[in-house]
Amino acid sequence: MAKRDYYEVLGLSKGASKEEIKRAYKKLSKKYHPDINKDEDADVKFKEIAEAYEVLSDEQKKAQYDQFGHAGMGQGAGGQGFGGFNAGGFGGFEDIFSSFFGGGARRDPNAPRQGSDLQYTMSIDFEEAVFGGEKEITIPKEVECEVCNGSGAKPGTKVNTCTTCRGVGQVQVEQDTPFGRVATQTTCPDCQGSGKTFEHKCHKCHGEGTHTKDVKIKVNIPEGVDTGQKIRLAGKGEPGVNGGPQGDLYIVFRVKSHPTFTRDGDDIHLSKMISFSQAALGDEIEVPTLTGKVKLTIPAGTQTGKRFRLKDKGVKNVRGFGHGDQFITVNIETPSKLTERQQELLREFAEINGETLQEQPNNFFDKTRKFFKGD
Ligand SMILES: [Zn+2]
Ligand SMILES: [Zn+2]
Repeated sequence: MAKRDYYEVLGLSKGASKEEIKRAYKKLSKKYHPDINKDEDADVKFKEIAEAYEVLSDEQKKAQYDQFGHAGMGQGAGGQGFGGFNAGGFGGFEDIFSSFFGGGARRDPNAPRQGSDLQYTMSIDFEEAVFGGEKEITIPKEVECEVCNGSGAKPGTKVNTCTTCRGVGQVQVEQDTPFGRVATQTTCPDCQGSGKTFEHKCHKCHGEGTHTKDVKIKVNIPEGVDTGQKIRLAGKGEPGVNGGPQGDLYIVFRVKSHPTFTRDGDDIHLSKMISFSQAALGDEIEVPTLTGKVKLTIPAGTQTGKRFRLKDKGVKNVRGFGHGDQFITVNIETPSKLTERQQELLREFAEINGETLQEQPNNFFDKTRKFFKGD
């Protein structure tokens, strides 16, 4: 479900003052407080209001939200935002419409346009996700040509307005269709839609103004991030056209699995085998956690499959809502090889327990073989 705009949640418009925000919050939080309001969704509304106020009442958070929306919220520093949203490859409504209406017939090819957004899937280790960190990635991306500064022309040579399309970037062509002759707009074949022609093209980018380059980018991995979550690096996408702003880069995380721990959201799960004696008599065992080994008391009479909880020993929540827990499921290991003495004791145990065990064929053969071998 799409997250509602914070201003909308508080019933305000974008330019609302500090006072207005405060007043709206006071009014709404009273109205939807779960202790007062018994509506089924009051609780959800109240949380939504509290979250909106938390952001809008904080000058720094508000500035980031105003600039980037929900994408700018949460963890991260240096222009990094975090959020569970979907990043499309569109530069805005204009691009969405133009993709429906055949390439934007009315668009001025010389108008500044924002560069495309990029998305990169980053594989990280289990520990990197749990504790966060900084990592450098290398991605091939379009960069502004450093020879012509993005103009596409060989430095010192002239750029002319395309004569075929008179700088519009589009030409009208007439086509025969089953419905008759139809005039459509199409990209100018002489300037490829740029509206410009070059006396001499730049030798580096061949008139494109950009070229592909491997670029190193530092990524701050948010502490507690999980598979599928993404961050946005503003302005790290493709370069803008005609002096437009750069697109954004979205980093989608994929967390590798761990040999010992299994992660479920912020919780950690682990299974541990214990012996029958430990389960029956009780013991203290050592279990690994994300932050080192801890002692776990197994009470006498523990059943197999019993789950123990270590509070707050899970993963730190990526949005700062505390820690998850660690769960340890203990399973009782049945001994598969018993010595003569162990068998004897278990038989005695069974006898005291009032059980009558039938002689097993393999035990019988074991005994026969041992008899002939003389031990
Ligand atoms: Zn160039
Ligand atoms: Zn042209």
